[in-house]
Amino acid sequence: MPRTKIKKEVLCPYCKKEATLTSSEAIYGKHFGMIYLCYPCDAWVGVHKDTDHPLGTLANAELRDWRKWAHKEFDPIWQKRFEEGSKTNPRYKKAMARGGRYKRLSILMEIPMHQCHIGMFDVDQCKEVVRLCQAGLVNPEAETKKPESKDGI
Ligand SMILES: [Zn+2]
Repeated sequence: MPRTKIKKEVLCPYCKKEATLTSSEAIYGKHFGMIYLCYPCDAWVGVHKDTDHPLGTLANAELRDWRKWAHKEFDPIWQKRFEEGSKTNPRYKKAMARGGRYKRLSILMEIPMHQCHIGMFDVDQCKEVVRLCQAGLVNPEAETKKPESKDGI
């Protein structure tokens, strides 16, 4: 789908002021790409490669830690799914495996799919991801009833 050219301002969720688009050098001392930064709140978020579209919402230190933890629990689940799925289906894609697990998460957490991304979650939602993953509820095997799938998810 083509991305719209309309530039939306990116707000800091802590102080509600507009974040500044700047080089990651401001934070890491090295340029890895662009970030939206709110300096007073020590909050930032990266952008999708070669765009000015933020990956999610700005996160402060506490939230960054929680998002990292959520990814540490969640990512191996879809990665394992991809490794297994791609053995029997060479057209199985990482995005399909990841999308399938986010779908599962969106059902468990009752969040619409388009809002269901760790990069958009707050601290409580990240805690919930960790809890659900550790309880084994995000695994494909945990799905009591497999949804009718047309695209291998
Ligand atoms: Zn701020």
